[in-house]
Amino acid sequence: MNKFINQLLQLHDLELTLKENTVIHRSKNLDSVKAELEEDVNVLKNTLPYEILSIYNRISRKYDIPVTPMINSTCNGCFIKLPVGIANKVQCDSEWRCCPNCSRFLYYDETQTTGAKTELHYKGLARFSSMDLMLPRIKATTMDAAIKKIAAETAQKGFVEDGKLFAKMLLIREALTPTTVEMGIAFPHARGVKACGLTLSVATVSPGIKNNTSAPISLLFVSAVPRQTSMFYLELISKLAQYFGKPENFEKIISCETPEEMWRIFVQVGK
Ligand SMILES: [Zn+2]
Repeated sequence: MNKFINQLLQLHDLELTLKENTVIHRSKNLDSVKAELEEDVNVLKNTLPYEILSIYNRISRKYDIPVTPMINSTCNGCFIKLPVGIANKVQCDSEWRCCPNCSRFLYYDETQTTGAKTELHYKGLARFSSMDLMLPRIKATTMDAAIKKIAAETAQKGFVEDGKLFAKMLLIREALTPTTVEMGIAFPHARGVKACGLTLSVATVSPGIKNNTSAPISLLFVSAVPRQTSMFYLELISKLAQYFGKPENFEKIISCETPEEMWRIFVQVGK
């Protein structure tokens, strides 16, 4: 990948992480983490040439996703077919290029077209998940073990390509800033994963995983977030945090014993 495009993707990831923290930890004071992330954003911005940064700032104000993959010679932001000359330049990564129609930065990523399955016929949040991805009462005593187990299941059911890599990316993100909220609900997620669409696995852990900062972790929403779906993800976690932050809904899903029972509750969220 072109060096500058790679930096822009990292920059966008950091900016999204800042937004996610606001959504997940609404009531919590995370000023030190925020300051650290903002510092990282500034460092990255300072390494970019002025011309690229000013285009990036301008496009970011206009679009949620300022850097988008080119798939089958088409801009994945505005879906116009790109001129051959530009498509070739993007494909060989030698120079950075913007879409001539929407101005988003483009990068080449064939992996976005392959692999995992999605179920899009549901409405609400259910379109990002499946009954196969409801995992009641898994056994784990640490967050790492729970994440590895859920990542392996998600891959085994065919929703992400590489379960081990998925687990690794989830753990790296978790190390950056933990995604657990007071009630013992966690939102581990990994951006840039090879999957056709945003994919969410829902697991309950019984008994909950002991942890210093919240109630024992007993409900995990684990997401694979391909880059172009990052903004959907913000909407997704915001709805999940709102719905399952209510004790009655939380208790309902925690007490489920089968995937069917969990799915029946899950399809109600965000309808
Ligand atoms: Zn475009």
